[in-house]
Amino acid sequence: MPGFAAHFNALYSALPLFIEWMNRLLDNYRKQAISVADFGFRKIDVVYPPNLRKQAGIVSLKESIPLPPFKKLGLVEFNELEQLNAIGVTYKDLIFLLEDHLTEINCFHEMVHVVQWKHLGVEKFLVAYGMGLIMNGYFENPLEQIAYNYQQKLEANALPMNFLEETRKQTDGIWISLNPLIHLSESQQAQYSK
Ligand SMILES: [Zn+2]
Repeated sequence: MPGFAAHFNALYSALPLFIEWMNRLLDNYRKQAISVADFGFRKIDVVYPPNLRKQAGIVSLKESIPLPPFKKLGLVEFNELEQLNAIGVTYKDLIFLLEDHLTEINCFHEMVHVVQWKHLGVEKFLVAYGMGLIMNGYFENPLEQIAYNYQQKLEANALPMNFLEETRKQTDGIWISLNPLIHLSESQQAQYSK
């Protein structure tokens, strides 16, 4: 089982290719995306501001959700994701959902990720999400936990008024908690290369 540094290095070196793959995907699907604002979701329209709803798009797909080519990217540790039979994924401000799962609650969940992507920026989001996945698995991934937590609150009609602010704060917290590990891994890397 490789350690944190090895995972981090593999993830970090895969970033340029990952981003290239993702941007190509977004270019391909952008035209068929429908903005979240246009769905007229009752709760979403109340809890997310208009600019965010207009910017975020939903791509509805019949069969499968586009996942990155993990093997090609040298990220075999993410193969678990392929077995989860994902019903949805968010890349930056584009939400991909299977047609049968295009519900307000799933859209709400993915919108939490749109907020996280925007808040951290592409590279930090990918590192935080990837490390969260490696260290904790999908459901315990801290970025997922935020989304599932507020999703449950919305379902219970108990979403706190400041959940967006809290989402950003908690997302910052996740990044900050990774920082010492990242620095450690960078100094380990420096030692190895001596
Ligand atoms: Zn999620």
